Amino acid sequence: MATVLRGGAVLPMTPARRRELLQPGSVLFDGTDILAVGTVEEIDADRRATGPDVEVIDATGFAVLPGLHNCHLHSGLLRGTAEGLALFDWLQAYVDPAHRALTPEIAEAASWLCYAEALRSGTTSVMDMWRFLDGSARVAGALGIRATLVPYVADEPGYDYFESIDSTRALLAEHRSSFDGRVRSWVGLEHLFYCTERAFADAAALAAEYDTGLHVHSSESRWEVEESLRRYGHRPLFEIARRGALADGRAVVAHCVWLDDAEIELIASTGTRVAHCPASNMKLASGPAPVPKLWAASVTVGIGSDGEKENNNLDLLEEAKLASLLQKLVGLDPTAGDPWDILAMATIDGARCLALDAVTGSLEPGKRADIITVDLRKLHTTPLLTGEHANVAAHLVFSASGHDVDSVWVDGRRLLAAGKLLTADESTIRAKAQAAAEELFARRAALPRLPSTANS
Ligand SMILES: [Zn+2]
Repeated sequence: MATVLRGGAVLPMTPARRRELLQPGSVLFDGTDILAVGTVEEIDADRRATGPDVEVIDATGFAVLPGLHNCHLHSGLLRGTAEGLALFDWLQAYVDPAHRALTPEIAEAASWLCYAEALRSGTTSVMDMWRFLDGSARVAGALGIRATLVPYVADEPGYDYFESIDSTRALLAEHRSSFDGRVRSWVGLEHLFYCTERAFADAAALAAEYDTGLHVHSSESRWEVEESLRRYGHRPLFEIARRGALADGRAVVAHCVWLDDAEIELIASTGTRVAHCPASNMKLASGPAPVPKLWAASVTVGIGSDGEKENNNLDLLEEAKLASLLQKLVGLDPTAGDPWDILAMATIDGARCLALDAVTGSLEPGKRADIITVDLRKLHTTPLLTGEHANVAAHLVFSASGHDVDSVWVDGRRLLAAGKLLTADESTIRAKAQAAAEELFARRAALPRLPSTANS
């Protein structure tokens, strides 16, 4: 049955016309795909948009835009429990022990919580670096969200409890592409200091064999750059490149805060994409990523929430506001962080980051119907203006939040209506996540202490 979203403020976010606003406009989709996007008159005149089988949804007062892409997420259950620490202290004291205590059942409960939260706030596509991802694939399959699953691989001494190249291969065999391509798996490495040269070589070979992307953290803290210079004699991205992980334009690197000009050039020349995580970078006091410089070098930058433990929510509209404000503050430049550029980062550029831009990321005929509506009939989004005073893009980035997301479709299937999940029960997800978190904390408290690792 065809569906028309009629009369909303439509932001198609197409690569060719990134600032186009159809206000009022309509979107027509049928089955999994978008059929047409245009003015209300154009779509009303489309024969496919009329007839008894067509569902017409009045979108007056709503923004209609592509679903948001979260290009760097970790499912998790540590929210609010690991505060006030610098990155590597925090990893060693809280995060790594939680990984040691993790079980497949706890990991799956974490993905239920995080994917449901993401969907509820308008995210239709997540890239999740996590563990025991068979369970996460089941969750994404059942919930209906688009997911790119990336096992956390680490193999330096003391990190053998992470995922391995073998477990990545097993996941790829099952979920390289499953649920009609909606769920995919990639290859991932935790971090330069967590992975041997052998792991890098095997990961690059595996990504080439299965033709997947390769996801890794880098250049997040200043200490990390100094340590890389001390250990390898050059900066982190040059070491990652030397180890073969930037080959064939497969890499998506999370953070990229501390880059010099040569590293920006390296990122650009290798076709590497960047997942920018402003809340995490501010909260862990890591620093501001040089997004304007990356844009100037034509690097594709997507937006990521990072984990619930370092954010502490997965609300990408809030993340969009932070991304914009951070650029303005750091550059002391009120023209930086333009809302249309930030919305592109959360939609079409995010899709490009995840190599999904042929499928989704903009509202165009032939693409999958991954669409969200945001209710702008609120006190905090009034007035809503058109024409020369049009303020929808500014409202979405600066005034609205994920709580204002009303409806979500992925592959043309409605997953959220009037703010309610249609494919799962929120209270059940919460109860399971609560129990899983309590079990995780009990297991972590009972761990034997490890000798200090390479990072101490
Ligand atoms: Zn991360």
